[in-house]
Amino acid sequence: MSWLNGIRAKSISVLLFNAGGCTGCARQFQTALLLDSGRGITLTGNPRHADVLFVAGCINDMSADYLKQLYKKMSSPKAVVAAGACACEGSLFRREGNGVNPLEEILPVDACVRGCTPGMDEMLETVINVVEDGYKECENGRDHDKELE
Ligand code: SF4
Repeated sequence: MSWLNGIRAKSISVLLFNAGGCTGCARQFQTALLLDSGRGITLTGNPRHADVLFVAGCINDMSADYLKQLYKKMSSPKAVVAAGACACEGSLFRREGNGVNPLEEILPVDACVRGCTPGMDEMLETVINVVEDGYKECENGRDHDKELE
């Protein structure tokens, strides 16, 4: 199985979820992919094909439920990245009382890319790193499918 994981680790499918906010982080990530397509990262709209769930923007109670559904549909090994101050910390909007939460209160986050907005290179590097780490953890017995049970 490790040879297959090695191949998959070189071609990474990302499900980009923009939970709201100004959309700056999501657009920054899409631009990074356009400018640097050679790293083998592509976007998918299908959670069953996704290696990484990449979440940007402000997460409220409604989007939190939807994010959990998406995560459960992804195949293991899988990874979650929180991008930007909104997804990583709730940012400015956290005090508004609309259920805006950091992503790590909802899903098992593997990495946060902090900043408003985070750098493009940092986003791409983080995606590559979480996939590589996720495959290693999986081989060492981590079962992503049981983490929301
Ligand atoms: S972290 Fe900044 S750039 Fe990203 S969605 Fe929030 S406000 Fe916009």
